[in-house]
Amino acid sequence: MVEDDAARLREAGLRVTPQRLAVLDALSRHSHPTADDIYREVAPGHPGLGLATVYNTLSVLADRGQVLVVDDRSGRRYDLRVEPHQHIRCRSCGTLADLPHWDDRQWIDGAMPDGWAVDRWNLMAEGVCPDCRSKTPALVEERT
Ligand SMILES: [Zn+2]
Repeated sequence: MVEDDAARLREAGLRVTPQRLAVLDALSRHSHPTADDIYREVAPGHPGLGLATVYNTLSVLADRGQVLVVDDRSGRRYDLRVEPHQHIRCRSCGTLADLPHWDDRQWIDGAMPDGWAVDRWNLMAEGVCPDCRSKTPALVEERT
């Protein structure tokens, strides 16, 4: 895993620019942001930066395995943690958090419909995050 932002860009074949470093910096400070989230944060400090540059940078990094794409119902999200892992989504605020990787081949293969071969496995659990639980305890109680 590449820890250094500049190395991560070079590893993806991208030139190291202040804009791209700012994109990675924003990604490191937020949990699973969208390209729009990153753009909104980085754009004020980088007047020349366009949304297309943010998308392109993230897309190349993802293609080269330097960031992970998490397809969420709210959009495509990005993750610096590239090793396989699962996620849980708060059904109240939409926040995503990481779960440990769960890869029980026996269960996965046994659960698939006849004739299917699985080569990628992403589990998206749903629940209520600690913030939403403390603000609205009824969110959990009404479901139990
Ligand atoms: Zn993650």
